[in-house]
Amino acid sequence: MDEFEMLIRAVPDFPQPGVVFRDVTPLLADAGAFARCIDALAEPWLGEGVRAVCGIESRGFIFGAALAQKLDAGFVPLRKPGKLPPPVVGIDYALEYGHDRLEVRSDALVRGERALLIDDVLATGGTLAAAQALLERLGVELVGAAVVIELEALAGRARWQGKAPLRALLRY
Ligand code: IMP
Repeated sequence: MDEFEMLIRAVPDFPQPGVVFRDVTPLLADAGAFARCIDALAEPWLGEGVRAVCGIESRGFIFGAALAQKLDAGFVPLRKPGKLPPPVVGIDYALEYGHDRLEVRSDALVRGERALLIDDVLATGGTLAAAQALLERLGVELVGAAVVIELEALAGRARWQGKAPLRALLRY
């Protein structure tokens, strides 16, 4: 087991029975491991000309803000509905039970800007696919996506469209 894996807690039956929740907060709380995690997340994208790191609420903000600093890029939050003041553009997407929505400030990114998506966990892939569609609607050039953890059994990667790479630091 590597350093990062040892600092990710598997919590059975949270938030619902049958779900094993991957809790990254012990990793965030370890100064050295968190810094090395950000270095490892950043490494494949150095020299790719990323101008904006777009983090998905809420843990994508934590990793994304640190990653943006490493890549010398700005940080753009993709938020749950009603959190950002107008003007915003949003996208609705389906969850296993119900639906959700992501919004971004409509003037936060410019057409053709090189952007990187970041989230903590890729599960069914619905959230990341929605974020990808939202950014493409804004005309940005999506360089790729980074996640800390990919839950391979849920096959979320299959919902990622196009040629831009989707990179995961850890796979379960
Ligand atoms: P998906 O849309 O099913 O891929 O779910 C991904 C979203 O749900 C991400 O924004 C994650 O933060 C959150 N998520 C799903 N499973 C976990 C987990 O085990 N730990 C932490 N977050 C999770």
